[in-house]
Amino acid sequence: MPTFIEESVSNPVIFWFRRDLRLADNPALCAAARAGAVIALFVVDPDIVAPVGLTRAAYVAASVAALRESIGGRLVVRIGDPRSVVPEVAREAGAECVYASADVTPRSRARDRAVAEALSAAGRRLITMDSPYAAEPGTVRQASGAPYRVFGAFRRSWETHRGAVPPAAPEVDWVELDGVEPSSIVQLAARRRPVYFTDLPDEPAPEAPPAGERAGHTALDRFLVRVDDYHETRDQPGLDATSRLSPYLHVGALHPRTVLAATDGPTAGRDTFRAELGWREFYADVLFHQPESAWRALQPRMETLRVDRDGAAVARFRSWARGETGFPLVDAGMRQLLTEGWMHNRVRMVTASFLVKHLHVDWRWGASWFLWRLVDGDVASNQHGWQWTAGSGTDAAPFHRIFSPTRQAERFDPRGIYVRRYVPELAALSESDFARANVETLVRAGYRAPMVDAGAERRDALARFAETRSVGAP
Ligand SMILES: Cc1cc2nc3c(=O)[nH]c(=O)nc-3n(C[C@H](O)[C@H](O)[C@H](O)COP(=O)(O)OP(=O)(O)OC[C@H]3O[C@@H](n4cnc5c(N)ncnc54)[C@H](O)[C@@H]3O)c2cc1C
Repeated sequence: MPTFIEESVSNPVIFWFRRDLRLADNPALCAAARAGAVIALFVVDPDIVAPVGLTRAAYVAASVAALRESIGGRLVVRIGDPRSVVPEVAREAGAECVYASADVTPRSRARDRAVAEALSAAGRRLITMDSPYAAEPGTVRQASGAPYRVFGAFRRSWETHRGAVPPAAPEVDWVELDGVEPSSIVQLAARRRPVYFTDLPDEPAPEAPPAGERAGHTALDRFLVRVDDYHETRDQPGLDATSRLSPYLHVGALHPRTVLAATDGPTAGRDTFRAELGWREFYADVLFHQPESAWRALQPRMETLRVDRDGAAVARFRSWARGETGFPLVDAGMRQLLTEGWMHNRVRMVTASFLVKHLHVDWRWGASWFLWRLVDGDVASNQHGWQWTAGSGTDAAPFHRIFSPTRQAERFDPRGIYVRRYVPELAALSESDFARANVETLVRAGYRAPMVDAGAERRDALARFAETRSVGAP
């Protein structure tokens, strides 16, 4: 449960929006509103935005713009390092207290400590509470106090931690100050990119999902009609069966408390869905306890896996990122990422596995491209989703269980509903022609030949994995 700190000050207070771009189910905003008139602040930190691709930046900007509209334009957007901007705005407004929902990534925690110190040096306070999770990362622990290492046990305990009732949007007396446009987020984005991204498409995804709290509630309402079938349909990318709530959860247009309350109930579909939300919380918990796992393999042995980094590997990486591998399900997924800034979970697993195990590229390159491009790009879920697929993470799929991109397509998209939607070269094939097609017929239909021999690359991946086993052996 969030702690409420009651204030009674006559000066305005500041509410610093970060990963909670919403009004409802926002306990920290409720506390600020109880304390006095509120200046709504969003700070665009150029250092955070520089390594973010235009699609994700545009989505955040649209989420900030939607929030601003919902409070009659009175959201103050400022550019700069929050360590100086937040104290400056507090001084300008004569605000003694700055309220915020706690953020929990390693970087955010360090930033908040520095902002709190800067404020306190001027006799002001940063008051943080709540978090972007149903159970704050670090609070779900074993009886011994140790963190959980596998999902199943985490989930059982996590179920007992959640359950708070989402508070309604508070009445707020908003105070205006000068600021810049939310579009400044996009102007400052995409300035720092890895060299292996050179020549990759970077225009904002033309079909990115709508942004903002209202759009999030609309997506939730649409999903509630389908949630009871979720356990049976969620793995079929051709169906619109999953919630598509990830972008809203990521920017905090929706809090998971709201989603859990709406999907409460005993059906198998609801239970499976809540487990998926549990994975989001589990990965945030793992990252909380092991911040280095954002960029280092959780299983140290896997740091020694031989990966390719030469010019040929860069070329393979770019073919993958463009969706030009000749494997229809992989190409469809990577093109969905280009057009929508989002990708179905099953296909994220298949595309990630293909990059790591068939193209022998470092999982961090793929994770960077996903983070650059995904509207839900999230350090905890993305890095650990990649580590799971690469066989290096917590609860990882064993490395030797290698997804065949062809068999995954036959199993989860047998009639090509998904593939034909995203790969125009194959769109003219009928369902039955697609279901009967093999490599030769696909090539005759105008599609590219597979870029690698999947069987040979699978054997190569297993040989590389075997090398890691001998690391440290006597
Ligand atoms: C390689 C890889 C990278 C990923 N990168 C991200 C990322 O950057 N951001 C992100 O939010 N998710 C990521 N995921 C997890 C998952 O693919 C997405 O959360 C999901 O596809 C979002 O679609 P949805 O909202 O329709 O999900 P639903 O199936 O409706 O699930 C509901 C919610 O549960 C959470 N969730 C579902 N599956 C997972 C999972 N495997 N891990 C963690 N949370 C999950 C999400 O918040 C999601 O919105 C990644 C998975 C993989 C395999």
